[in-house]
Amino acid sequence: MGQAAIGRSDGRLPSLFLSHGSPMLALEDGPAHRFIADLGSRLPRPLAILVVSAHWETEVPTVNAVERNATIHDFRGFPPALYELQYPAPGAPALASRVTELLQSAGMPCAVHPRRGLDHGAWVPLLLMYPQADIPVVQLSLQSHLGPDHHLRLGRALAPLRDEGVLIIGSGTMTHNLSEFRGHRPDDPPQDWVERFAGWFNEKLIAGDTQALVNYRKLAPDAVRNHPTDEHLLPIYVALGAAGENARAEQIHSSSAYAIIRMDAYAFETAGEGETRKVA
Ligand code: ZN
Repeated sequence: MGQAAIGRSDGRLPSLFLSHGSPMLALEDGPAHRFIADLGSRLPRPLAILVVSAHWETEVPTVNAVERNATIHDFRGFPPALYELQYPAPGAPALASRVTELLQSAGMPCAVHPRRGLDHGAWVPLLLMYPQADIPVVQLSLQSHLGPDHHLRLGRALAPLRDEGVLIIGSGTMTHNLSEFRGHRPDDPPQDWVERFAGWFNEKLIAGDTQALVNYRKLAPDAVRNHPTDEHLLPIYVALGAAGENARAEQIHSSSAYAIIRMDAYAFETAGEGETRKVA
């Protein structure tokens, strides 16, 4: 499609938040599918990828260190074709060690998992972005019991990786109340309460209002209705944190599905000298 490049001309990688929605994103055409399928070609090619997905939660941050990633089909009731998809990207044990080193230096306890592969929150977007599965990938787990501030700090600890050629991706979904899914069709327009929340979040991201974002559960309209549990939102804080204290957000995609799912995506960079926007 030849869309505009994302990121600076100096080749420094942004960090990303992607909405993965349903696992069918891998197979079904639609605006978010096309956006993610085009995304790899709009970014500088990374040496390795670190993904934080909504679908791996542990007590302490845990990174997988494997030679090759297994493809985890962690969903039920989908067509057989979805279970046949594989994403056998190489692992990156050296990057896993680097991640633990960075987290330990930031005073965060962490662990290594010697076997775990990639869940669908990780491999579905990567399958679309880099279908050849030839870029090494490590996955890092979430701690949803620790909330947004913890994940912001996690991202900040990992920020040096962006200068080491590592693409940091948070994979969640911008709005995610699946109990309200029933009865809606793919192209039904989004509900008001979905739009209000996504609009508030976008405004705070663009304004760099990190304080408000960290307190979104109290401040954002319909926060709890959109995220009864917030594991699908927390990856955005890792991506935001990875752009440092002077993070600058750009909305790189917005669409909706089934009236209740916003598939928005963001790129985060560190505001350079001479630029005035700063986080609160
Ligand atoms: Zn998910």
